[in-house]
Amino acid sequence: MSRVIGIDLGTTNSCVAVIDGSKPIVIPNPGGYKTTPSMFAISQDGKRLVGHLAKRQAITNATNTVFASKRLIGRRFDSEEVSRAVDLCPYSIVCGENDDARVEIAGKTFTCPEIAAILLRDMKHVAEEYLGEIVEDAVITVPAHFNDTQRQCTKDAGKIAGLNVLRILNEPTAAALAYGIGREVEEKIVVYDLGGGTFDISIVELGDGVVEVLATNGNTFLGGEDFDLRLVDHLLKEFEAQEGLELRHDAMALQRLKDAAEKAKCDLSAMQTTEVNLPFIANDASGPRHLNLSVDRDTLEGLVRDVIDETLYCVKQCLNDAQLGIEDVDHVVLVGGQTRMPLVQKVVSDYFRKRSHRGVSPDEVVAVGACIQGSVLTADETDVLLLDVTPLSLGIATFDGHFAALIARNSTVPVMKSHVFTTTRDEQSAVKIRVMQGESTLAADNDLLGEFILNNIPPARKGEPEIEVAFDIDANGIVSVSARDLATQSEQSITVSARGTLCDEEIDMLSREHAAFELPEEK
Ligand code: AMP
Repeated sequence: MSRVIGIDLGTTNSCVAVIDGSKPIVIPNPGGYKTTPSMFAISQDGKRLVGHLAKRQAITNATNTVFASKRLIGRRFDSEEVSRAVDLCPYSIVCGENDDARVEIAGKTFTCPEIAAILLRDMKHVAEEYLGEIVEDAVITVPAHFNDTQRQCTKDAGKIAGLNVLRILNEPTAAALAYGIGREVEEKIVVYDLGGGTFDISIVELGDGVVEVLATNGNTFLGGEDFDLRLVDHLLKEFEAQEGLELRHDAMALQRLKDAAEKAKCDLSAMQTTEVNLPFIANDASGPRHLNLSVDRDTLEGLVRDVIDETLYCVKQCLNDAQLGIEDVDHVVLVGGQTRMPLVQKVVSDYFRKRSHRGVSPDEVVAVGACIQGSVLTADETDVLLLDVTPLSLGIATFDGHFAALIARNSTVPVMKSHVFTTTRDEQSAVKIRVMQGESTLAADNDLLGEFILNNIPPARKGEPEIEVAFDIDANGIVSVSARDLATQSEQSITVSARGTLCDEEIDMLSREHAAFELPEEK
């Protein structure tokens, strides 16, 4: 059996790890970097570029370079999150056949699972180059707060990339596994995971080889990108005030500014002041204009303080769900690149009234946890037991527009619940069921996972037929539904097809199509 790789498919960067001997190692890409930008581009001469190669040409080819596409995966084109991305991204985001968000660059449209597959195939390639063997099996991580559609799409992406996805694992759970492995003591830890695009918080109980997630919460549209955008906006205003020139509609200038803002943000984690210098950022009748601005740490902190505070709402909710107080938490583990910011560390430490743990490398720990889980899943015997939870309640829409939860959020997975449905009219032969995920009591505010019709209900008076529908969430957090007519015991087959997910034939076709593109070596 080939080795199992763990892939952290990040919004900003991706990372791959494997167990080498008995220890997990993070695999460097051929350029020597342990993380690879989650970027994909089609160059002016039609070449497909991934990772650092894509990042390096992003400024001069902004409209054909895709970044942060994880924020779009499994989302409806008309969702609020996608509208925000449409306003901010230099590349085109378009509406797909299933109303899903797709990306259009160099005249070609890609589904979000396809983009993710291109990034995953690159990670597979990095591992194969390093190990000198073919790699097929993988554990891929996702934000804990990803819903069913986002998980399904990530799993599809793995298949398109030619991977056998053994498990979709929650990112903070992977981090807890990496942190907890080999520790003898019993303790409750909080994993605070603030990455490029998403925020997750999980409370995990460790002890005796058992890693049990007690509760999780998060926001799949909050991360380092938001910090960058606040700074970009600030720099745009400063430049406008100084030079009287608007840069908002200049894609290349915006991309340069975005890159510079991210760099300035990272610099300000180590320094009190930094300079943003972008020569020839604009041109007008009076000649070229240069952007030379200084930013200090206090200014950046003022710009993003409310974004950091927003994470604390999720933290409070998570503690409530776990029925714990801050005094019950033994350790706080920081994960994700954005936790390198001193203010993030301070806010978290102040909240929990204890120093947060930064011994583990925040960019690599998720991939390490994923490869550990891979080895646990493939071992004949293991002394590690991982118990995870579902982040969102699963239920159905009722006839009056409300949401009836059948499986509550933070239930340990796998979990199965059944519900008996009946008819509301005499001789009714079919019932329509809308499966939803979310926390609102109003159905319309939650995510519609899919809908199905129960057919062939034998003729009877209203309320008599008994059809038991079982809702199942597997260890990947993926939902499936089955139905049984209790009178005849006959099973009805139901397919809940999530938006943006693909059938096996489509996956095969895309897998062949993408495999045909030989990617240039990363230098
Ligand atoms: P991740 O998704 O975990 O790779 O985190 C990526 C995010 O971390 C990006 O928004 C980066 O800009 C941010 N980041 C990385 N290093 C630093 C740093 N030294 N200070 C502040 N943010 C950082």
